[in-house]
Amino acid sequence: MNIHEYQAKELLREYGVRVPPGRVAHTVDNAATAAEELGGERWVVKAQIHAGGRGKGGGIRVAGSIDEVRHCADQLIGRHLVTPQTGAAGRLVQRVLVERACRIHKEFYLGLVIDRGTQRITVIASEAGGMDIEEVAARHPGRIVREAVDPAVGLMDFQCRKIAAKIGLTGRQIPEATKLMQALYRCFRDNDALLAEINPLAVVDEGQLMALDAKMSFDGNALYRREQITAMRDFDEEDPKEVEATGHGLNYIALDGDVGCIVNGAGLAMATMDAISFHGGKPANFLDVGGGASPEKVENAFRIVLQDPSVRIILVNIFAGINRCDWIAEGLVQAMRDLKIGVPIVVRLAGTNVDAGRAILAASAFPFIMADNLDDAATRVMATLRAAPA
Ligand code: ADP
Ligand code: MG
Repeated sequence: MNIHEYQAKELLREYGVRVPPGRVAHTVDNAATAAEELGGERWVVKAQIHAGGRGKGGGIRVAGSIDEVRHCADQLIGRHLVTPQTGAAGRLVQRVLVERACRIHKEFYLGLVIDRGTQRITVIASEAGGMDIEEVAARHPGRIVREAVDPAVGLMDFQCRKIAAKIGLTGRQIPEATKLMQALYRCFRDNDALLAEINPLAVVDEGQLMALDAKMSFDGNALYRREQITAMRDFDEEDPKEVEATGHGLNYIALDGDVGCIVNGAGLAMATMDAISFHGGKPANFLDVGGGASPEKVENAFRIVLQDPSVRIILVNIFAGINRCDWIAEGLVQAMRDLKIGVPIVVRLAGTNVDAGRAILAASAFPFIMADNLDDAATRVMATLRAAPA
């Protein structure tokens, strides 16, 4: 789960990371008031969306007067911002962060990630700040410093000093950077983060270190024990189909193919997607209805999969253990009756109550395409797609 820059900065501030004074604003008037309250002579008005590269897309604007703050906010709020990370449609800006503008002397990159190879939280730093770290990694791999943290002792002073020196910090900036990195580490660890990125970390004004941007992402599976983080969730930034699926207890991930998948179990869902790909198709989604799926749950699964206009066919693949094929079949028939399903449906049922399930489908008079096994199902999907007009 991702959060907005202003939320990440509030959280980091609590842990002792220095960030510029700032206020979030949802309207142009609020933005002007925010700037007045912050004081100073120059402000930065920053579009808050869950995508980076905002600077390049015109989403970060500098204002030298309250009127200019107003103008900048007006240019951003309520409009779609296109950045290198949003895709062509862009993202609707619903709020801006108004911040005191700092005089920047130098920009650095500082990030924390979980390195799955070493299974450790790893600090990544670079003196090439402001740039995408992917770009730095590709073009100047030598300019990236990495340091893995031993979870038993945490991020040690000597490691921070080493990182700070390697990216070119000197003098009192080194103990300052040490404090900042350790604060960032605590914030990361204590909130089950997956990513924390400060780009840029900047030397500003009188030489102090400041986090000018902040991006954080958290482990969705740990949200149950992270109330403060859960409260920061912005559903407007997420795929509405995925949000609805979560509400129905379904695991749904949207993908970009045209074969809708309704499957029980994450492993079988992956195998189903593999089988479709193996036969030359592209799955439109991952969907795990889970164990003990009621007919209602199955119908909801259809409703969600069908919201994706690129779906041209649906493959239902159920291997019932805890599930019951007769319930799944009832759900299928119910979905056919209640929803206007204009696409063919291939069904593979196996396991508990399979004969009862098949009987329900056969008695329904809806044109389900029945398959004997997963390979047969994927073959039938592709044959049906090829026979249908595109
Ligand atoms: P993004 O990474 O989405 O482009 P940033 O928050 O990193 O957005 O802002 C882009 C650039 O704008 C930064 O690299 C920095 O140079 C400048 N900037 C951001 N916030 C401030 C600020 N408070 N004061 C001065 N400059 C800023
Ligand atoms: Mg940035």
